[in-house]
Amino acid sequence: MPSPTPLFDPGVTDLVERDRRRVWHPYAPMPATTDAVPVLGASGTRLHLADGRQVVDGMSSWWAAIHGYRHPVLDGAIRDQLDRMAHVMFGGLTHPPAIEVCEALVDLAPRGLEHVFLADSGSVSIEVAIKMAIQYWSGRGRPDRRRLLTVRSGYHGDTLGAMSVCDPENGMHHLFADVMPQQIFAAPPTPAFDQPFTSSHVAELDDLLLAHRGEVAAVILEPVVQGAGGMRFYSPDYLAAVRSLCDEHDVLLIADEIATGFGRTGTMWGCDHAGIAPDIMCVGKALTGGYMTMAATLCTPEVAEGVSAAESGALMHGPTFMGNPLGCAVASASIRLLTSHSWSDTVAAIEESLRSGLTPLQGAPGVTDVRVLGAIGVVEMDDSIPMDVAQQVLLDRGVWLRPFGRLLYTMPPYVCSEPDLDAITAAMTAVVERVGERSARPAD
Ligand SMILES: *Cc1c(COP(=O)(O)O)cnc(C)c1O
Repeated sequence: MPSPTPLFDPGVTDLVERDRRRVWHPYAPMPATTDAVPVLGASGTRLHLADGRQVVDGMSSWWAAIHGYRHPVLDGAIRDQLDRMAHVMFGGLTHPPAIEVCEALVDLAPRGLEHVFLADSGSVSIEVAIKMAIQYWSGRGRPDRRRLLTVRSGYHGDTLGAMSVCDPENGMHHLFADVMPQQIFAAPPTPAFDQPFTSSHVAELDDLLLAHRGEVAAVILEPVVQGAGGMRFYSPDYLAAVRSLCDEHDVLLIADEIATGFGRTGTMWGCDHAGIAPDIMCVGKALTGGYMTMAATLCTPEVAEGVSAAESGALMHGPTFMGNPLGCAVASASIRLLTSHSWSDTVAAIEESLRSGLTPLQGAPGVTDVRVLGAIGVVEMDDSIPMDVAQQVLLDRGVWLRPFGRLLYTMPPYVCSEPDLDAITAAMTAVVERVGERSARPAD
């Protein structure tokens, strides 16, 4: 296949300068204080940087690119769909790609989740989940149940409703306090993934549900792994206990599986570790194999009936690009690709590699904790990791990772080879050595 004609002269400096002048990056000032790294292409597990280097992507483009880049099956699914139509409005119309992906999601989801609302990003799917919960109670004659109960250290997205259930400190609640709904927070979930659970671990949550009975519509949390809020892994027994408490107090449970879904934690869903099913579930990120922006909110027939019995008689949401056929087609292809392979063996093998590569860092200077679950590897440092230093060390070793705060972590594409995984853990080790060395010399 001929390679596409470059749109511009890939002079690296020129790209960086043009980017700096015009382009706003995530969580960045304008103009930016650090330069973005230009990427001209990607294939398999590699990003092709404008300076000619090819680096292993240990981030899967923020948990999404589980099958790697330019996968022939996924590329083909989009091309085939493009020959039919790229997009059509979803109000009053439907199409095979949307029907197929909704059926595939219901087949794959925990039991009881039978209806699917397609959204255009993870944050939007969370907004939809929140609206569903509120409209549900309104349809059940309890319009006073409008608040969410959640746990600290969570992350659910950046729109106002989603932000209101993010960790109040990481989520910068003080910046938006007066324009954001005020939710109810319990302590971060404990104990750690493999530690013994007792009912005392959910005592506060139980108390909060009791204290706020009548005003809580739903509990929302990330099952078993809290992602961007701190990369914490907690006991599946905690999750199971939350499910029971929700039943007991008659509130809905919303599982945010946007990061944990599609096998990332070793089971298809984070909820599967606890053998539970939520009333509402959000998926995104890896849904399209990282190809297109798409997410979905699933719910039970009970929730759907409640919402539809509400005053409006309908779920009040409808994005312009809802059910985008290209996104739906590639999502179905990605799900088929995942489930046609022994994905759980693949993830287990990645887990083993990450464990053997990262465990030696436990107890190294500057390291607070090392943890691995499924295809997620985390090194938590004592101090904030200097991004410029880390990036240089990583790129010099042919690896792309993006640490945040005190966390150096990877969630590699499932197609990573053993040598790719070794390169990732070796590069992480090099960062720890460099950063640990710096913190061991405080006069520096
Ligand atoms: C990324 C993420 C979101 C937000 O998804 P976007 O597509 O970035 O809006 C929500 N919840 C969790 C758990 C996430 O990891």
